[in-house]
Amino acid sequence: MAALDGLFESLVSGSVRVVDLTQPLSESTPIIQLPEPFVNTPGFKMEELSRYDNRGPGWYWNKIEVGEHVGTHFDAPIHWVTGRDSDDLASIDATKLIGPAIVIDKSAEAEADPDFLLTVDHLKEFENEHGPFPQGGWLLVRTGWDARASDQAAFLNANETGPHTPGPDVECARWLAEESPFVGLGVETVGTDAGIAHSFDPAFPCHHFMHGAGKFGLTQLANLAQLPATGALLVAAPLKVVDGSGSPARALALTPA
Ligand code: MN
Repeated sequence: MAALDGLFESLVSGSVRVVDLTQPLSESTPIIQLPEPFVNTPGFKMEELSRYDNRGPGWYWNKIEVGEHVGTHFDAPIHWVTGRDSDDLASIDATKLIGPAIVIDKSAEAEADPDFLLTVDHLKEFENEHGPFPQGGWLLVRTGWDARASDQAAFLNANETGPHTPGPDVECARWLAEESPFVGLGVETVGTDAGIAHSFDPAFPCHHFMHGAGKFGLTQLANLAQLPATGALLVAAPLKVVDGSGSPARALALTPA
């Protein structure tokens, strides 16, 4: 009984803060660009149905069109071929959408090297300093990339050799999927894999291993700088689309003020 009373009081008093980890979703939201011959996703589009006018005198509403993997969004296991028999959005156990957030800060490293790769050693270092990772937790990787989120070119950071953005290396992706107690990985970049991960073996190892293990991804996060390394609670809320592979999501964190 009353297990949440302390939380409600803390929210009212401000000793627990809600941090919005979500980027605004609009027609200028950056979207991933796949090379030929792959099909690309549409971005976000909004079309007005009525706005207090003769099409609907008392109400304002829109129709929206958006790819599943646009803006701050959630990757379901079924998104990747290795998770093809695993959960779609509507099948996910909602308990897994709320969990302790572990925030590892690699913003200095990513600023020095946009191809920065997160390794198991980085995670072990973090555990040595802060204690063991929590069961059912979410690993959130801060790279400072959220500062680029209003500029498609800076956000994708691509040149003639492809995109250059930080992400986990192959062994780190495998470890997160198969050995860590995390249920998901959250990042500030356009996808959970590094920009150069198309050249890895396996390609896109984070998608390959995490979704193959029934785990989740969360991308284009904002405001991770406002979270402590440990002690915050993540709430990731994608749409419950039947057969959906991913969805724009509202990502929130509760954090001690
Ligand atoms: Mn995605």
